[in-house]
Amino acid sequence: MTDIKILPAVKQFLAKGHAHYINGKFHNTGEQPIEVINPATEEIVAKVPMASDKEINQAVASSYDAFNNIWKLATPESRQNSLLKFAEALANHKEELAQIETLCTGKLIDIARFEIDQSCSFLRYYAGWATKITGETVAQTSQPSMAGEQYTGFTRREPIGVVGGIIPWNFPVMISIWKLAAALTCGCTIVIKPSEFTPLSMLRVAQIAHEEAGIPAGVINVVNGLGNVGQALIDHPHIAKISFTGSMSTGAKIGQGAIKNNIKRFTLELGGKNAAGFLADIDIDEAVQGIIAAGLSHQGQICASAERIYIHESIIDKVTEKLVTTLADWKIGSPLNPQNQFGPLSNRPHFEKILSFFEKAKQEGDQIVFGGKKVEGKGYYVYPTVIRAKNEKSALLHEETFGPVLTLLPFKTDEELVKLMNDSPYGLTASIWTNNLSKAMRLVAQVEAGTVWVNMHLALDPSISFGGAKGSGVGREFGSHFIDDYTELKSVIVRY
Ligand code: NDP
Repeated sequence: MTDIKILPAVKQFLAKGHAHYINGKFHNTGEQPIEVINPATEEIVAKVPMASDKEINQAVASSYDAFNNIWKLATPESRQNSLLKFAEALANHKEELAQIETLCTGKLIDIARFEIDQSCSFLRYYAGWATKITGETVAQTSQPSMAGEQYTGFTRREPIGVVGGIIPWNFPVMISIWKLAAALTCGCTIVIKPSEFTPLSMLRVAQIAHEEAGIPAGVINVVNGLGNVGQALIDHPHIAKISFTGSMSTGAKIGQGAIKNNIKRFTLELGGKNAAGFLADIDIDEAVQGIIAAGLSHQGQICASAERIYIHESIIDKVTEKLVTTLADWKIGSPLNPQNQFGPLSNRPHFEKILSFFEKAKQEGDQIVFGGKKVEGKGYYVYPTVIRAKNEKSALLHEETFGPVLTLLPFKTDEELVKLMNDSPYGLTASIWTNNLSKAMRLVAQVEAGTVWVNMHLALDPSISFGGAKGSGVGREFGSHFIDDYTELKSVIVRY
């Protein structure tokens, strides 16, 4: 099989000018210094201008106006219905959006299709919450009553205002949807700043939301540019909260910036150096398939992916051997060809960063047992890589690569496994692999991570909260906990 055919709708969208989506219209002004590169071919897909202060102010003003005059006043049921309609409209454009994602991020087309399906599922989940946001009632408070007066207290959850959503390049549509669906269901509006590497797909999504799902102009705005555009959102007095997904270092700057700006609210979903621990009783084939799914999906460019693979010393040689023979058969190539199992990295700086990790591994005396080099030819391709760490101090067991780099280390006892898994400033996800459920449950309690899976890794579900422990973030998305982050709690006490 060869590459799938690019839809006429995708060609049309890419051929027209692009910039920002503000108040229900495309804005396309100024020079276009941001080149969007197809990572599979290194060809320019489109050029995009950066938002000036004028456009950032227009976007925030439009979202502020939509918040105060339309969206927070809409009934919960109408917000729910709008999000459900939005999900339906996105589903109708699944193939078109998936192709745009693949052309801009290099993700395999089936993963891009999955991303759009997931985005629809999350929208539907969040839609259901619009009618279920409640407070507490205290029928009688304890103030003294001098002349028969009584007191009742209650709390209200009120939408926080305009949210600034700052998005990374790995899942531009899905991560934006996580933020905008949470914001919109609570009655907030949102200004989204995509990554400079992937500025296109959310422009089309915002247009679909407005023109096909009837989400009012200004409820979702998109401004493109570099980090300074994100910074301008943090500094803007009419942005009430920043919801950020990205690296730990940028997250620290964003948290500090938000605090300096009148203690602006913020949530941070940051990186991970996630561990997977395979106990001695696990079947070799299951371990190999588990490691591949945990660490190599979307070329390892998933914040929740496993990068540190701890395997019991009694099985590590067999697992490594089977892992290598499996990867040797993999088809690496165009992400538009559904037969391929592995595509390119998403952008040149990231490609160069991953190559530098291969050099670092060699310098540190780690053993590269598979891959560890680029694939010759056009595009940002590297081989999926398996490394046996020299010891637990190897840099590859501590620094986030955010790429297809599996670093393996043996362990002897469960106590040692817990110590190794917790030896990281990060704490986003982890997984334990064993047939001994009792042991697994005891280990789950000891692992320091926001999410711990048993006999699986990477599965996200809208009903289960997601977020980082330790340096991997502040706050939670999904579940019911997101409500705390998109609403302000108001307490009311009534004397009567
Ligand atoms: P970055 O932190 O570099 O960038 C994320 C976003 O922040 C981009 O839109 C970027 O813009 C913007 N930005 C950069 N500097 C600033 C600034 N000073 N102020 C405001 N905004 C700024 O991350 P990447 O895009 O490189 O994404 C990879 C990282 O994201 C990895 O560490 C990964 O683990 C993490 N991640 C975490 C996830 C989670 O849910 N926990 C999910 C996905 C990724 P620009 O691109 O224009 O520089």
